[in-house]
Amino acid sequence: MRRTRCSVAFAVVALAACATNPATGKRQFSLVSEGDEVAIGQEEAQKVTASMTVLQHQPAQDMVKRVGMDMAKVSERPDLPWNFTVLDDPVVNAFALPGGPIFITRGILTYMNSEAELASVLGHEIGHVTARHSASQMTKQQMAQVGVGVASVVSQTAAQYAGIAQQGLGILMLKYGRDDEKQADGLGFRYMMKVGWDPREAVKMFQMLQKTSGGDKEGRPPEWMSTHPDPGDRAQRAEARRKELDAKGVNLDSLKRNREQFLRAIDGLSFGEDPRDGFFRGSTFYHPGLALQITFPEGWQTANQPQVLAAREPNGKALVQVQVAKGANPDEALRAFFSNQGFSNVREVQVPTSTGASRSAVFDAQTQQGVVQGETTVLTLKGRMYQVLTVAAQGNPQAVDGIHRQVIGSVKEVTDPAILNIKAPQVKVVQLPRAMSAEEFYSQFPSVVPLDEVLVINGLDRGTQLKQGDLVKQIVGGTAR
Ligand SMILES: [Zn+2]
Repeated sequence: MRRTRCSVAFAVVALAACATNPATGKRQFSLVSEGDEVAIGQEEAQKVTASMTVLQHQPAQDMVKRVGMDMAKVSERPDLPWNFTVLDDPVVNAFALPGGPIFITRGILTYMNSEAELASVLGHEIGHVTARHSASQMTKQQMAQVGVGVASVVSQTAAQYAGIAQQGLGILMLKYGRDDEKQADGLGFRYMMKVGWDPREAVKMFQMLQKTSGGDKEGRPPEWMSTHPDPGDRAQRAEARRKELDAKGVNLDSLKRNREQFLRAIDGLSFGEDPRDGFFRGSTFYHPGLALQITFPEGWQTANQPQVLAAREPNGKALVQVQVAKGANPDEALRAFFSNQGFSNVREVQVPTSTGASRSAVFDAQTQQGVVQGETTVLTLKGRMYQVLTVAAQGNPQAVDGIHRQVIGSVKEVTDPAILNIKAPQVKVVQLPRAMSAEEFYSQFPSVVPLDEVLVINGLDRGTQLKQGDLVKQIVGGTAR
């Protein structure tokens, strides 16, 4: 599995233990004790919930906890502090942290159609935990990078800015190797069977992931797919396991799917990106809740994360980031910022703004790659303070002054009611009054997304005949951006 890595690490850390893997029963080197594993996972889970929003929808949270806990309890490690949380994130994703915390997104739930499908994803993630994949893969140092979004940046030293600029924008996910993925699939299947979930739903889940072209509007692949290779391959393996059960005479029809319960629990969830969390039109960012508007240079890469908004010159020559500033006034916020280590040549400058009180300064920052130059402004808008920080890569100091001033000059209060009142589309579960085809459903119960997307989220094909009383998802409402 990870033998090379383990033995290299073993040579360095002489006290590494050789322990039995609880899920696989095999002996393996482990650099992390169970206590450490749990502690690391809890610490990382706090970072996740601090930097991402937990979904406010009790029926969905309750369902995910119930389906997850049922399987965790029949796993090889029932006594870990298991915890299952739905994040309010449109990306199609699920991930596990060492020792028990498991996260799944609103995005992936809106694409599922039964509790058994949900069980297939949660079972897989539980498998990563019980087989100690992350614990065996990671040192604490690697873990420290997980979940370090650009979010915590105010409290970090200047040295870290350059690192962020180079990595691009923070990525939360761990990648496991192919063998680990296969093993997690196998373990997930085991837990599904123990609880009595219909394994055929796992096949549907993989097929859905294959069809989903994008987890978001930018057409990026769903996160879960990019960290979980070959859904087609996995669908085939799941299918092979199903055939084995058939051959053994297991009556699959007697197993649980809980389609109706699932759909009732996700009825009313937002679908796709929620514009209330902020959205871009061209290079201008709007945040309806904060009434904040800001424009970045044309053609820059942008990312809107819960605690930070960032834009990056495509070749990494400069980075601008915006976040809520802490302190009683701009002066105090700026002083707190520069109290971090690594800054030199800090000079206050005047940067014109069209908003309330502001303070600005230019600075040099010591990084691993050498000294970089930056400029920052703390400004006030509608009683909130924001810090805008511009950092230039080495050899490109001229990027700072012009760009920073341009971005600061673009900050405005949003007054357009169409933007202030914008809403996300929602999943609406419809009970069919009569039998109809999938296409008829689409014309009789129109959605704000194309037919093909409605088919994918319902696991339907063109021409599928639906029965009277069937529950089908429709995507309604929302405001065009
Ligand atoms: Zn996985």
